[in-house]
Amino acid sequence: MSYEKKGVAVSHGFVSGNIILINQARTIVEKKKITKSEIYTEINRLQTALELSLKEISELKNSSSYGLKSEHIDILDFNILVLEDEILVSEVIQKIKKELINAEWALNSVLTDKSKNFSKVKDLYMQERLADFYYIAERLIKNLRGKSESSIEFKKNSILLAHDLSPLDALKYCQNSNVVGLIMDLGGPTSHTAIIARSLNLTSIMSLGDLSHQLPPGQKVYVDGYKGIVSWQLKKDEKEEMIKLDKEYKILEENLLEFSKLSSVTKDKFKIFTKANIEIVSEINSAIRYGAEGIGMYRTEFLFTSTDRFPTQDEQFDNYINLLSSNHFDEVTIRTLDIGGDKLATQGEDEINPAMGVRGIRYSLANVEMFADQIEAILRVCNTTKKKIKILLPMVSTIEEIIEANEIINNINMKYKLNELFEIGVVIETPSAALITKEISSKVDFISIGTNDLIQYVLAADRNNKDLRSIWNYYQPSIIKMLYNIVTSVENNKYVSVCGEMASNLLSLPIFVGLKVNELSMNSHSIPIIKSAMNELEQHYCEDVLKECLKMSRHSEIENYLKETINSNIQKAKSVIKYEF
Ligand code: PEP
Ligand code: MG
Repeated sequence: MSYEKKGVAVSHGFVSGNIILINQARTIVEKKKITKSEIYTEINRLQTALELSLKEISELKNSSSYGLKSEHIDILDFNILVLEDEILVSEVIQKIKKELINAEWALNSVLTDKSKNFSKVKDLYMQERLADFYYIAERLIKNLRGKSESSIEFKKNSILLAHDLSPLDALKYCQNSNVVGLIMDLGGPTSHTAIIARSLNLTSIMSLGDLSHQLPPGQKVYVDGYKGIVSWQLKKDEKEEMIKLDKEYKILEENLLEFSKLSSVTKDKFKIFTKANIEIVSEINSAIRYGAEGIGMYRTEFLFTSTDRFPTQDEQFDNYINLLSSNHFDEVTIRTLDIGGDKLATQGEDEINPAMGVRGIRYSLANVEMFADQIEAILRVCNTTKKKIKILLPMVSTIEEIIEANEIINNINMKYKLNELFEIGVVIETPSAALITKEISSKVDFISIGTNDLIQYVLAADRNNKDLRSIWNYYQPSIIKMLYNIVTSVENNKYVSVCGEMASNLLSLPIFVGLKVNELSMNSHSIPIIKSAMNELEQHYCEDVLKECLKMSRHSEIENYLKETINSNIQKAKSVIKYEF
């Protein structure tokens, strides 16, 4: 009998190999009472374990053989920061002395208290920091017990299976060239471990439930990192299917790389830039690989939430400068912090309705020092590189917000006088902003349509709620009309981009081409398909398609019509769109 399990594909690819099962369970800590005379033994054990843990991490950091990237260093630095925290050590020592308990228990309870602060935060990135606390505790406890790490023997085509794997361990094990895949019970696309898998180009699926309890070590598995499926114990014909699929995926990747070289222009030579949305700087490599013509949106949330404090202005400067240092792009768009709402509880306590709470620009204007630091870091990068940066303001709903933000930006710019080198734009993602696009566009240099939130707010349907997919969708007549109104209200032909996921949706392409937007910014992997399809579409024809859609009153009607349009006009991309990634 054959089996398969579906999870979330976090890093594309298709591999087969044998399971190496690691990290089966979290470390279990036993509470032991100690006598007064044993206090110093416990404190000494603690100090030794701390020193050893710090040594291990520092060695990993300094080990040139790992070829660490900046996000790897950030994670290691966070571990070092926690281990060097004197307050933490003294709290543990106090606990040992006061409660007369063993070092393991004292340490575990102090770290648990600290992690509670993180667990209150709803943001996924912050929850991953909570996971980092557990990993640090595990390492310390292992060193307290004095057990050495067992070395793992990696045979060719090893696939790591773990209940959960720390980013550090992922970094350590996955760089072995015999490791071809990483699959986990836990984790999601924005976890540090997923980011490391992507940065190492390693096929990876997460959120696989209890797979680590189902599969024995050595089990041969097939990992489909496009569809997010792991399968095993396949019959002969199923294995043959897999071999076929593997070949198809290889052709798909070859096609994508071919398409990535195409210019981003319609059949009748109308130019629309295709750019990449990125969340960490190292994703630039994949943007370049898939033919991005620029970075259309750098979401800065990960930078701000990947450690337990916001980055300083200098740290931001170092980060932003990397965007331009590849010399591949002459300009990039940096979105200011879009924190709040479902991304991070902002005011220290839960908001009743976070999606409509203090988020995006509202948070920035309520925390002007933080906002000013981000803006100054960006302007310093312009000043140093002499390259253009487009500053994008999220979650704007009123003109006052733009006036206030402009004032802050212009005040900081008095010091740098960089008028030619930066632009200010607004994400149109609230119905209010959509309705006053004309006024907004008169106050900024460009606009970018954030369809993810715009659809959520226009249809009052949570973008993360799977049960609302028949309402929250790209083909709603209200959305097509809203997009038309936005684009046609923009003043003086100012630059219009689309930065929501709809930009990567093939069926929506005729709408955007018909609307004559200037830029589509999307996840890098989708760029080649969009480029290829664009090459086969005529701009004038798409204007007619748009007109037809505007007459329709049902989303199913629009969707079917767009399917027919794509089917009858697109040939090259057809071979790859069946994979629906
Ligand atoms: C959007 O809302 O469309 C958008 C691009 O922003 P995010 O997905 O980060 O909210
Ligand atoms: Mg948004």
